[in-house]
Amino acid sequence: MSLPEFKLLRPRTVTEAMETLAGHSGNIRVLAGGTDLIPSMRQKLFEPEYVLDLRGVAELAGIYRSESGVIIGALTTLRAIEKSPILREQYPVLTEAAATVASPVLRNMGTIGGNICLDTRCLWYNQSLTWRKGCGFCIKKDGDLCHVAPGGTKCWAAFSGDTPPALLCLGAEIEMVSPAGARRIPLHEFYTGLGDNYRKLKSDEIVARVFLPACSAGYRGVYRKLRVRGSIDYPLAGVAVAIKRSNGHVADARVAITAVNPAPVLVSGATDALNGKAIDESIAEAVGDLAAKTAKPLTTSALTPEYRREMIRVFTKRAVLAAAAN
Ligand SMILES: Cc1cc2nc3c(=O)[nH]c(=O)nc-3n(C[C@H](O)[C@H](O)[C@H](O)COP(=O)(O)OP(=O)(O)OC[C@H]3O[C@@H](n4cnc5c(N)ncnc54)[C@H](O)[C@@H]3O)c2cc1C
Ligand code: SF4
Repeated sequence: MSLPEFKLLRPRTVTEAMETLAGHSGNIRVLAGGTDLIPSMRQKLFEPEYVLDLRGVAELAGIYRSESGVIIGALTTLRAIEKSPILREQYPVLTEAAATVASPVLRNMGTIGGNICLDTRCLWYNQSLTWRKGCGFCIKKDGDLCHVAPGGTKCWAAFSGDTPPALLCLGAEIEMVSPAGARRIPLHEFYTGLGDNYRKLKSDEIVARVFLPACSAGYRGVYRKLRVRGSIDYPLAGVAVAIKRSNGHVADARVAITAVNPAPVLVSGATDALNGKAIDESIAEAVGDLAAKTAKPLTTSALTPEYRREMIRVFTKRAVLAAAAN
C-alpha cells in the first residue's frame, strides 16, 4: 500500500495551475485535500506521473457573498463550510451535509471541490492492487467485466459524496476553468450517471468555484445518511431536503439522494408532491416512496441494495418531517 512514485507540482496561481495541467494532460491528477486521492493512489487505482497540488492557490479558497448569492472557492475546506456563519444561516442543508463527511481531521483537509469531484465507489474497486488481482479486475479499472452486474458492459459504482445532494437541492452551479476559459454549469449537468466515467470534466479543467443562488437562501435544510461507522464513514445512502415555507405551507422544496446511484440525483416528483402542502406523515411518506423509486442501489457495498433503498425511503420521510418542523 505504498504510494507510487510521482512528481509533485505546486502552482501558486490559477493561471499557473491551468497551464501545468494542460501541459501534462492525461498523465496528471489534481490534488486538493488529498483525502480521497492519496488512499486511491496507495491502492494503485491511479498512478499518475505528476500530481498537481492546488493547496498553494489561495485564490481558489474562501466563502464570499455576491449580489446573486454566495460563492465558495473549490479549495474551501469542509470544516470551513461547516462552521461558516453565512452558510449556517442561509444554506443549512449544505452545512449539515458537510458536517457528516468522514471525521473532523478529514474535514480539515478535504475540500468542497474534492467532494464534488469524488471518485465513485464499489466493493470491487476500492481495494488494494493485491486484492483486486486476486478477486479479478473489473471494467472500472484494468478489467472487462462487472462483478456487480455480470454480463453487463456498464459500471455501476456509486457516487458517495455528501455535499452534492445538498448542492443539488440549492440549485448550485459550478465553474470550471482551463486555458480555453471558464464555463459555468448547473451541478446536475456535471455528472454523467456512469460509474466509471462519472463526471464531465475535461482533462485540462479544474473546478474553481461553486455558486449558491440567492433565491435558495433561507430554505430550511436537513441531511440524513446511512453509514457503517457513525464517526467516519462514506454514505451508503444519503438524503438532502431543502424546503421554503410560507404561512405554514411549502412554497418550494427539493429532495436529492446520494450513494445509491452512480450520480447524486434530484428526486423527480418530490417538488410537486410537496409544493403548496402543509406537511404531514402521509405526504412525507409519499415523498419517501418517490425517493426509494429513484434509488437504484446494487451490490456495490457490504450492505444489501434492498436495505439501502429502504433506508432512503425512511430517511427521506424523516428528513421531510424534520425540515417541516425546523
Ligand atoms: C476514512 C475516510 C472516510 C471518508 N468519508 C467520507 C464521507 O463520509 N463523505 C464523503 O463525502 N467523503 C468521504 N471521504 C472522502 C473525502 O474525504 C471527501 O470526499 C473530501 O471532500 C475529498 O476532498 P479532497 O479535497 O480531499 O479531495 P482529493 O482527495 O484531493 O480529490 C478527490 C478527487 O477530486 C479531484 N479534485 C479535487 N479537487 C479538484 C478540483 N478543484 N478540480 C478538479 N478536480 C479536483 C481529484 O483529482 C480527485 O480525483 C472519506 C475519506 C476517507 C479516507
Ligand atoms: S460496478 Fe462493476 S465495473 Fe463498476 S467498480 Fe463495481 S465491479 Fe467494477
